[in-house]
Amino acid sequence: MFKSARIKLTAWYVAIIIVISLILSLPAYRITVLELERRVRREVQTPNTVFDLRPMPFNSFTQIDKQVIKEIKEKVAVQLLLINLCIVTGSAFIAYFLAGKTLAPIEEMMEDQKRFTADASHELRTPLTAIKTEIEVSLRDKKLDLSTAKKLLTSNLEEVNKMQTLSNYLLTLSRYEIQSTGLSKDKVNLKEVIKMAVKKVKILAQNKKIEIVEDLDPLFINGNFPNLTELFTILLDNAIKYSNKNSQIEVSVKKSGNYAKIEVRDYGIGIKAADLPYIFNRFYRTDSSRNKTKTDGYGLGLAIAKSIVETYQGKIEVKSVVSRGSTFKVSLPV
Ligand code: ADP
Repeated sequence: MFKSARIKLTAWYVAIIIVISLILSLPAYRITVLELERRVRREVQTPNTVFDLRPMPFNSFTQIDKQVIKEIKEKVAVQLLLINLCIVTGSAFIAYFLAGKTLAPIEEMMEDQKRFTADASHELRTPLTAIKTEIEVSLRDKKLDLSTAKKLLTSNLEEVNKMQTLSNYLLTLSRYEIQSTGLSKDKVNLKEVIKMAVKKVKILAQNKKIEIVEDLDPLFINGNFPNLTELFTILLDNAIKYSNKNSQIEVSVKKSGNYAKIEVRDYGIGIKAADLPYIFNRFYRTDSSRNKTKTDGYGLGLAIAKSIVETYQGKIEVKSVVSRGSTFKVSLPV
């Protein structure tokens, strides 16, 4: 598909260059011919007509002059044609290269979209398959009693909940990626935002006996309270998920230059250096979160966090050491 689009775009570029080249060549040809006639006239005419620049009637030249002018005209025309051919051939190569460059980001975006759709379908198919299999097996069981049926429904409900979580994540992600500019913004105190995010994850922290230490300066930015709360809830939720019991999480808000710097630090399992460049990609989960700790998740939280930060032209970075913990740093323009 992109090959044919590239060829079409090249054809358009070349067509534009042909038109420009012709527009320049025709006057060039006309000027050369006029100049030629003027020179010949200077030699054959009386002195009082030498400065007359108007085109001269062709029948006023001698037979030999006419022959010379005709030959030179033909030579000029052939040379201009050759120059045009060279320009068109050269420009075809350049146009093909430029068409490739123009289409590359679109191709990358479409590939990304395809990957996203495939990943999302795959994640949705897993719980659907589980539900389908359980229902089919139960329907074949002629002695299905009420308690087994209840167990089946409970298990189905778990899978439905997973699908609901996933579809909520997908909706959130598409909302921030597509409608990022449509969000209403107000004067928001980041201290209040963090307090709200901490409140949301409090119960999870309590379950793991994790203490959340706050060091929050009141700092106002132009932002959207719910989506900023979502951003820091994701970071705090991860910090809790990937920390051991009885540990500590630190969250701070400070001003640095024209930026608000927010840090969420945990002393949990950390992230391998090899994984760090990918953790903000959609559906990316490290091996340790899939296998060792077996924490729930779809690898969409940090992708959402990054999309939110990007709506503020901010930055999100991470520093991490395996088994020592991770620090997520968010910079937002004040
Ligand atoms: P998930 O739902 O899997 O947590 P995220 O997008 O939030 O998805 O995170 C992507 C991956 O980055 C996680 O699967 C985990 O491996 C890693 N990760 C994120 N935050 C932390 C953290 N605070 N400590 C260790 N690993 C983390």
